[in-house]
Amino acid sequence: MSKIIAGNWKMNGRVEALTRMIEALKAADTGSATVIICPPFPYLGAASVSNVAFGAQDVSFHDAGAYTGEVSGAQLEDLGVGFVIIGHSERREMYGETDDSVNKKTIKALGGSLSPIICVGESLAQREIGITYDLVAMQVKSALTGIAAEGLSRVTIAYEPIWAIGTGRTASPEQANEMCGFIRGTIAGLYGQGVADKIIIQYGGSVKPANATDIMNMSDIDGALVGGASLVPTDFMKIIDF
Ligand code: PEP
Repeated sequence: MSKIIAGNWKMNGRVEALTRMIEALKAADTGSATVIICPPFPYLGAASVSNVAFGAQDVSFHDAGAYTGEVSGAQLEDLGVGFVIIGHSERREMYGETDDSVNKKTIKALGGSLSPIICVGESLAQREIGITYDLVAMQVKSALTGIAAEGLSRVTIAYEPIWAIGTGRTASPEQANEMCGFIRGTIAGLYGQGVADKIIIQYGGSVKPANATDIMNMSDIDGALVGGASLVPTDFMKIIDF
């Protein structure tokens, strides 16, 4: 299965940084992997002119209208954006994203041509009280409520333990693989093993050049969602060269 590696820039980067990253990506040999860059909304205009795959960091679940600050899926499609991150833990924790809104956004993305990257994952406190599996299963099932099996061919799930995001504390490859396998099993329970075998499941949380190869070579990990290291072209190029 070909891997998908996405760089989530969060609220970082300016035009110059994006230009440098696009040049680096164009010169890179990405093999069979799909590499996506997800800068802040204002920079997504580069998608239509750069020949590099772009993703947004969020999308509205509305089509159009009086929703100040929101950006619709159709508007992203107009710019040539192909992917969208939905339900990142930072949006869940700081901006009131819920399992329900994640589901609505996923449905909206699939109703158009966007491919959603749905983020799930537990906090340290949730892991320590032993609810990781229940919580992640609930997040996956909620996100996919009402979505038919055909839609799953465009869905990526990113397992991102919150305690590993931006902390430098990575899940071990085995820990990450176990959770990605658990997510695959959850998908199998919903849609059957055939669909589960094909869905892309990424790991995200302090992926760096030093740990990317070990993580990406695990059996149930089909790619990575990379934060901090995706801002540095040399680091990101090493990661995509896993
Ligand atoms: C992320 O924000 O999705 C992420 C994985 O960040 P970092 O790689 O910096 O931990």
